[in-house]
Amino acid sequence: DLARIERALISVSDKEGLVELGNALAAHGVEILSTGGSAKALRDAGLKVVEVSDHTGFPEIMDGRVKTLQPAIHGGILARRTDAGHKKAMADHKIAGIDLVVVNLYPFEATVARGADFPTCVENIDIGGPALIRASAKNHDFVTIVVDPADYANVIEEMKAQQGATTLALRRKLAAKAYARTASYDAAIASWFAKQEGEAFPERLTITAQRVQTLRYGENPHQQAAFYSDGSKRPGIATARVVQGKELSYNNIGDTEAAYECVAEFKEPAVVVVKHANPCGVAMAADQYSAYLKAYACDPVSIFGGIVAVNTTLEARTAEDLAKLFLEVVIAPDATPEALEIFAKRKNVRVLLAGTLPDPLSPGMTMRSVGGGYLLQSRDNGHLAKSDLKVVTKRAPTPKELDDLLFAFTVCKHVKSNAIVYAKDGATVGVGAGQMNRRDSSRIAAIRAAEAGELAKLPQSPAIGSVVASDAFFPFADGLLAAAEAGATAIIQPGGSMRDKEVIEAADEKGLAMVFTGMRHFRH
Ligand code: 5GP
Repeated sequence: DLARIERALISVSDKEGLVELGNALAAHGVEILSTGGSAKALRDAGLKVVEVSDHTGFPEIMDGRVKTLQPAIHGGILARRTDAGHKKAMADHKIAGIDLVVVNLYPFEATVARGADFPTCVENIDIGGPALIRASAKNHDFVTIVVDPADYANVIEEMKAQQGATTLALRRKLAAKAYARTASYDAAIASWFAKQEGEAFPERLTITAQRVQTLRYGENPHQQAAFYSDGSKRPGIATARVVQGKELSYNNIGDTEAAYECVAEFKEPAVVVVKHANPCGVAMAADQYSAYLKAYACDPVSIFGGIVAVNTTLEARTAEDLAKLFLEVVIAPDATPEALEIFAKRKNVRVLLAGTLPDPLSPGMTMRSVGGGYLLQSRDNGHLAKSDLKVVTKRAPTPKELDDLLFAFTVCKHVKSNAIVYAKDGATVGVGAGQMNRRDSSRIAAIRAAEAGELAKLPQSPAIGSVVASDAFFPFADGLLAAAEAGATAIIQPGGSMRDKEVIEAADEKGLAMVFTGMRHFRH
């Protein structure tokens, strides 16, 4: 299964590593065919090169739109070397075999990324390159295809080891990579084109993603799993540097994303604790350590085995306390050397540094799979200012209540529905998540608050004197009454229920202040 390389075709836009490759090929006595710019770069480095136009007897025409699209080239690549008919065709038409094809494409993605105009983007759609790549990969039994400068060294190594040949194993691997490249190239063109038409959801969805890592298992040990990057470089779980700890698990990745996206919502130093994709303690304060103490106090039980995210450089004081807990992951934009030293002694804890925070307001899509399909939607980047809130009760919230209401509603956005969040002094005091009815979420949040109060030996439940947020409207007054009973003095909710009037009346009767947001934050 060895295929000797006697003739190579090199046509590259990215000239990185080109000269080294050319030198190595020349050392093996390989004849090099090349297109205009690549040929010039090789010749400038003193290498002997045959221009494709000299080889085919047909010039490059139409500003390079037609360079290698020639039977002499494609026949030389596609010929089955063991097939008598193919060999005869080669002889009849004076076609020389091409055994190695090195191509990287016109930089379409980079051209779009730099905001080039429509005609420039179109001109950067490579035609001959993908044809060369696809033909070579198809005939991988005989031809070696290289689409990435990172693979030059591999090929040279193998040629050295195999007296100028490559193994079938390598050619197959490179062929798979080649088709992945043309697929992602066309996907980039397709999605750019769809965007030109002003369509957020193109008729056909083409996704290409890069595997970041194969995971030990999925949500459960009997499931297989892998993690892929979408190439967007959104700061967070996919781009963060893992500075220490055990390998990230499937659940770690999901939970860490939930924690980091939530903590990024806050301007002040904030701390978010997540368990099973739900926040179980969120707080902000003038400094990180105070925020941590408040987040911890919300639910000192659930934090066991949890994920902690901070939105400022991880400090030694916070790290010291965190290191005493059993935690799965700690994620921060950055950490002080002292904080890292503290964790170095806790080898199992995964510490991730993301560099920066994601922008909660940024646009983008989210996707989930359903049986037989995918669901796409734009990110929930909904954001409210105080001026967006509509007071609907006789009593308006006090300025302090208003701050806590907005904070609680922001946390709600990151809690699985039905979400009820009690908050006080910039900290959650009770979170009710994922229940099938709102009243149960409300009750659970109140129970958590009361238990945390008992653990901290407080004279009363921290829910007393708190505010409460609901991710969606209260369909009945009962959920609201449960919150009032737990001690909440103000309420934030989207409003819009058929029974809004009833709910407002119940609030007025209890002397509660209530604001409507007009925005819902379901999260399933
Ligand atoms: P060079 O810099 O060598 O002149 O051009 C290299 C680029 O041309 C490569 O990115 C390659 O994919 C592309 N290419 C090779 N043949 C053709 C062709 O026939 N038509 C077009 N449009 N591009 C080609």
